[in-house]
Amino acid sequence: MTDHRRPAGAMTAPAGPFLFRDRPGRGLEVAFTSVDAGNLAFHVSGTPAADIEDSQRDASTAGGDGGAEDSRERVRASRRGVEVSLGVPPGRTEYLTQVHSARVVSAAGRGWGESPVAEEADALVSPTGRDPLAIMVADCVPVVFASRRSVEYPAAGGRDGRPDASGRGAGGVDPLSGPTAVAHAGRRGLLDGILQNTVEKMRREGSGHEPGDIQAWIGPAICGRCYEVPEQMRRDGTAQIPATHSRTVWGTPALDLPAGAQAVLESLGVTVHRSPVCTREDPRVFSHRRDPGRGRFIGFVWRREEGWGTQQIEGSEG
Ligand SMILES: [Zn+2]
Repeated sequence: MTDHRRPAGAMTAPAGPFLFRDRPGRGLEVAFTSVDAGNLAFHVSGTPAADIEDSQRDASTAGGDGGAEDSRERVRASRRGVEVSLGVPPGRTEYLTQVHSARVVSAAGRGWGESPVAEEADALVSPTGRDPLAIMVADCVPVVFASRRSVEYPAAGGRDGRPDASGRGAGGVDPLSGPTAVAHAGRRGLLDGILQNTVEKMRREGSGHEPGDIQAWIGPAICGRCYEVPEQMRRDGTAQIPATHSRTVWGTPALDLPAGAQAVLESLGVTVHRSPVCTREDPRVFSHRRDPGRGRFIGFVWRREEGWGTQQIEGSEG
């Protein structure tokens, strides 16, 4: 995920309202939004009105039923804007009511536009990959997953049926056609096992068990130089996940949650792509510690149905 370090104009994928966007497999979209996408969480009051006028004037159709309803309508408009950019039918993306738990649920098959109350959990798995999934964050660690299906090897690939070095099996079989997932790993969720639970559920739903069968993108999060915690909290965290041990640039105890997430995932055989962006230091993304209440951005994953919406995929092989 070195694209984060390049200026926006040099990114290979269209920037739009995204900090990062990639198509790592056939029909597969992985993305993290930027502040340009607006606040995507209903439970956050959102951007001050003066800033909204710049980014949302055209998209918002707020009718003026008071501040709360204006705020909710701005979130709806922002969510639809992201969906239009990705080619997702408006309202179809599945969100969760995130509660800092270790609970993983399966996609419901109904997006935020159809289902008024999202389920309480902190990770969401799509067995087919065809459910557009979103996870909201502003400092906590967003993780997006895609996977190879464990039953795909025998028909294609090298001597033992494994994909070749390019990551594709013989005959151009795309390896990332298994279950997808998104997870919200804050300090509590990370220590309580949200990532282990997500990987376990993906494997129950058909993801392969070999190293590299599951790939994870760790998105922008508060870094170990910025996430100050009390000494006791660092001791407790480090006892469980040593890789989280850190200190702030100003010399106080800290936890490195992205490093901890990477260590946990790699211990499970997951291949990790990790963003270098720190939410607290980079104004292109929302940060609760830097700017409380201003907004949430999302990590996103979705696989298009074959033969549907493919005209929007430049360079698609499918
Ligand atoms: Zn930082």
